[in-house]
Amino acid sequence: MKQEKLRTVIVEDNQQVLQYLRDHLEAMENVVIVGTAESVTSAKRLLTQKVDLLIVDLGLPDGSGIDLIRIAKSVGNTTVIVVTVFGDEVNVVNSIEAGADGYLLKDADQKTMAKALGDALNGVAPISPAIAGHLLQRIRQNKETSLPPGLAEETDVYLTPREVEILEILAKGFSYKEIAQIQNVSFHTVNEHLKAVYRKLAVNSRGEAVYEAMKTGLINP
Ligand code: CA
Repeated sequence: MKQEKLRTVIVEDNQQVLQYLRDHLEAMENVVIVGTAESVTSAKRLLTQKVDLLIVDLGLPDGSGIDLIRIAKSVGNTTVIVVTVFGDEVNVVNSIEAGADGYLLKDADQKTMAKALGDALNGVAPISPAIAGHLLQRIRQNKETSLPPGLAEETDVYLTPREVEILEILAKGFSYKEIAQIQNVSFHTVNEHLKAVYRKLAVNSRGEAVYEAMKTGLINP
């Protein structure tokens, strides 16, 4: 049976980055680029069709890519990868809350980017170790400044010890495949555990799961 191609939209106002992403994605067998946009306004028009994969920049001339993430996540089953510059942790957290599935750093080398995109296309959304580290640091700082020592936000969610372990490894930036190797279980098992975690935390992406679990103290950075 012929595999259906992933209908992909790229939103990026930097011509060089756009060209790079387009070249790379077009080279992938299972991808078809159905449109590119350089602004929020023109991207909104592209999102009225069925889109499987959205690659989106955050800083756009007429607004924020975060609005586009919200739209994409509300209308369909779209995987959203944010292309961002390092150090923009406020935007990263906001993107996670809007439902982004993963991140690519703009200064990532070609190999890192290729791997991250490949993972995303295989249903393993990338959150780069650099971004994960950054998030951990931010959450740690938040805890120190805004919460009494040792007190995380209250939560009723219960995760099994195995789920906590897997989530902690995930937070370090490992892929599902790597987690399976570390835990000595199958990819399928990891996937099932994480599905349960997503359900319990009421989240839709890996980034959100890690963020929620850390915020509520279910896992320790
Ligand atoms: Ca930009």
